[in-house]
Amino acid sequence: MNLLVATHNPGKIREMNEILAGFGVRCLSLNEAGISEDVEETGATFTENAVLKAVYYAAATQLLTLADDSGLEVDALNGDPGVYSKRYGGETPPLYARLMGEIQDVPWVERTARFRCVVALANGSGLIGTAEGVCEGMIAFEPKGSGGFGYDPVFYLPEWGQTMAELTAEEKHRISHRGRALAAIFPLLRQVVDKE
Ligand code: IMP
Repeated sequence: MNLLVATHNPGKIREMNEILAGFGVRCLSLNEAGISEDVEETGATFTENAVLKAVYYAAATQLLTLADDSGLEVDALNGDPGVYSKRYGGETPPLYARLMGEIQDVPWVERTARFRCVVALANGSGLIGTAEGVCEGMIAFEPKGSGGFGYDPVFYLPEWGQTMAELTAEEKHRISHRGRALAAIFPLLRQVVDKE
């Protein structure tokens, strides 16, 4: 059975495909489904944006569709950049440069942060369900590692003694917000796939 993975972000497509490998679905990207437009993420929460995208692309393609919305919540910035994580980073890489500048004077103990991800599952008839995953960490003083994407090089995991970008892909999926959100939606996805 085909499953549309509704994102244009290549880092996310790769990760979702890796996590969903072995699930018995064939993952299609938006490009593979012939969709080039991006839905505007106008929601105020990760859930609103994930639902918006899943329902929109499922209606457009009549495919079972999984969409996610994710981002970084930094406590020293009162939870920002949150749903604005991509826009906040700006167009000039690295994405984390602005964040590093804004919290450069924040001491280590106050650099707590988390990645949050909400996934939404929909089909042509509408929303089927949502699930959330969270991964707690700290914003490092220096970037480290070359794996993952986005904010991974500055997201330090105290229990690993490494940044997210230093983990192998398999290690990241096991503990990441996206890995956890997908694991949480697996039972629902299983039900839907088995019913087809
Ligand atoms: P969106 O979910 O496409 O709206 O964007 C979320 C943004 O949050 C991404 O563009 C990244 O900048 C950031 N982000 C989300 N997940 C991750 C991750 O696993 N690692 C690093 N950055 C992430």
